[in-house]
Amino acid sequence: MSEINKIPSAENPETFTGLKLGPPMNRAAGIPAIYHSLKHVFGEAGVLRGLQALSALNQKGGFDCPSCAWPDPDDERSGIAEYCENGAKAVADEATQKKIGAEFFAKHSVAGLASLSDYDLGKKGRIAEPLYLPPGGTHYQAISWDNAFSKIGETLRSLASPHEAVFYTSGRTSNEAAFLYQLFVRTYGTNNLPDCSNMCHESSGVALSEALGIGKGSVTLEDFYEAELIIILGQNPGTNHPRMLTALQKAKARGARIISINPLPEAGLMGFNNPQTVKGWLNMDYALTNLFLPLRINGDLPLLQAIEYFLLKDEAANPGTVLDLGFIHNHTSGFEEWRAHILQKDVQALSNDCGIGIPDIREAAAMIAGSKKIIACWAMGLTQHVNAVDTIREIVNLLLMKGSIGKPGAGTCPVRGHSNVQGDRTMGIYEKPSPAFLDALEKYFSFTPPREHGYDVVDCIRAMHEGKASVFIAMGGNFLSATPDTLYTAEALRNCSLTVQVSTKLNRSHLVHGREALILPCLGRSDKDILNGETQFVSCENSMGVVQASKGMLTPVSPHLLSEPVIICRMAMATLGKDSPVHWEKYMTHYDAIRADIEQCIPGFERYNERVRQDGGFYLPNGSREGRFDTPLGKALFHIATAKPLELEDAELLMMTIRSHDQFNTTVYGLDDRYRGIRHERRVVLMNRQDMQDMGLQDRDVVDLENHDGGRRRVAKSFIVVPYAIPRKCVATYFPEANVLVPIGLVAEKSNTPVSKAVRIRIKKST
Ligand code: SF4
Repeated sequence: MSEINKIPSAENPETFTGLKLGPPMNRAAGIPAIYHSLKHVFGEAGVLRGLQALSALNQKGGFDCPSCAWPDPDDERSGIAEYCENGAKAVADEATQKKIGAEFFAKHSVAGLASLSDYDLGKKGRIAEPLYLPPGGTHYQAISWDNAFSKIGETLRSLASPHEAVFYTSGRTSNEAAFLYQLFVRTYGTNNLPDCSNMCHESSGVALSEALGIGKGSVTLEDFYEAELIIILGQNPGTNHPRMLTALQKAKARGARIISINPLPEAGLMGFNNPQTVKGWLNMDYALTNLFLPLRINGDLPLLQAIEYFLLKDEAANPGTVLDLGFIHNHTSGFEEWRAHILQKDVQALSNDCGIGIPDIREAAAMIAGSKKIIACWAMGLTQHVNAVDTIREIVNLLLMKGSIGKPGAGTCPVRGHSNVQGDRTMGIYEKPSPAFLDALEKYFSFTPPREHGYDVVDCIRAMHEGKASVFIAMGGNFLSATPDTLYTAEALRNCSLTVQVSTKLNRSHLVHGREALILPCLGRSDKDILNGETQFVSCENSMGVVQASKGMLTPVSPHLLSEPVIICRMAMATLGKDSPVHWEKYMTHYDAIRADIEQCIPGFERYNERVRQDGGFYLPNGSREGRFDTPLGKALFHIATAKPLELEDAELLMMTIRSHDQFNTTVYGLDDRYRGIRHERRVVLMNRQDMQDMGLQDRDVVDLENHDGGRRRVAKSFIVVPYAIPRKCVATYFPEANVLVPIGLVAEKSNTPVSKAVRIRIKKST
């Protein structure tokens, strides 16, 4: 079949790579983490360039890790390594010396490349020059930056309405680039600014804003060292936020106890061999979790309510011994109604719904009753459910009843999975901007910003699929692979007249494209960014609301790369022309000009250019951290939620998608998931052995997974059955391979976040 007729695959090939199975581990890191870090870094970047990069990673004056958003210590940073294995892998991925340009793409057709796995695509190297795919084209070809920007400008100006264009942001985008991007998009005339936060912590933002008046977590890193109890829900820190384990170990050394709530007994929850200590090398003293609660998928809300039920009962039996009545009275509203709601619950039914027995629930309640300084941490295991907002509100209820917020050692901690996802939102990357922010832009830049809310991720996919939007521009990321309902999303992207990806490396979103497509290669976080002979720095905001500078210092692999801020300015100039109310040129002379304008439009950034140069940066204001709740009542609000257990039909199972240890979001660094004892294979489905027996399935049987939501049959073919310690009727698979099963219509209430953690599926032996 000629290349012209081949439709590039939107999915990974259904081929196996040679599964090896071993026992899951009960501790993370240790010497193997050092080995794997250096293997990746030296393998991709080489020894000298690799050591240069690692020596600056997360150091003051260095660059911020492009992976997760775990904070760096305010004070002393480790002289050995202020990074984890996955931070090293992220840097290796970016600092690779491999590069691909027009010559490579002349040899490799889009369809040919699409037949490769995400892992193989990612190993091709950095994209070295701007690339264009003409209508009907089969191979990307070189294009000049000028022509690329002209094409974007012409296309955007040709649209009947700015609302026919979508501008996506991935969480790697710096504050400076994010501010310019939203400014460009709003001066162009739309709020179509979906971002990866829509798919990850949007539910946290909605719940925390409703309950506490701010959509961000309240704790600092220092709070971990004062906490008496740390509750970790729906999070796998060992793989997704590894330096958190150092903080947990330090907290435990100071007497804290840990409750972990997760369907899977993740190694990083159970134990940690700190690779920076002799004890860690000798496998000594590694235990973390005191109480592990392996609940059913989506069992968090009934579990929390069952715990609260016993806490309220104990308080009634011994008034003043469990609740912080002073805090409740002075700082909250809605307690009595909520208390009555919980006390009328059938606690046995709650126990059945979450799959945790009463004795363990009682033990958790006792640990909480005995603590005053409690931190609750969570991630996607909570946010990607239909009732995610209710569940996160219930966590806040638990903290409020204990007065455990707005004081040292206590509070909320939604741990962000992408380095600047929180910063992007602070910079205005949001489809529902606040009137106050738009007023500030209007006043300072003298233009009338659009007030109509734009599309978030799910809405923009629908809009492209229905032809309401026809231009898609992505600032980083791998939209196709990160989003749900892969084949539906692929149809949506192919429906576009133009797709533009600002990227560092090749991924599947380059291969599933509009009638025309552009790839604009940008500098990475570790790359040196020179303007007018001066090395520039950008800034990022971590999960704790600390804004700090990030300065790349590696020589870029290609002279044809541009920084994100420069790409955005030139895109804006090519689209908006000379009449634009914004002087885009000034931002391309020095980034201080960007920060000076951010200071004028966004509260909390006073003296931005001065404070961002301070060692370690500065904290943004946070009302809930200071015990001030900016809700309509000026108080923290209790919330009444009703758990509606997910009823499954006989042959149905509940699937959650997860990351392997060799993966960051959709970037696949390797084929191993060594903490779970799985090596060299990603097409696996983790199943409960009793469920396998009931379904007549054996270890390593090859099966197809199906979902039928909304009358559409979705199939993920060829997965290998792996018995695993997972609750009954629950299964786990890796994304993006299983995203084809996640229905576009299955979203969280209020936050519209795709529900990737609770998808009904059926499993059939492959034929
Ligand atoms: S914990 Fe997160 S931010 Fe820190 S080095 Fe690891 S991946 Fe990077």
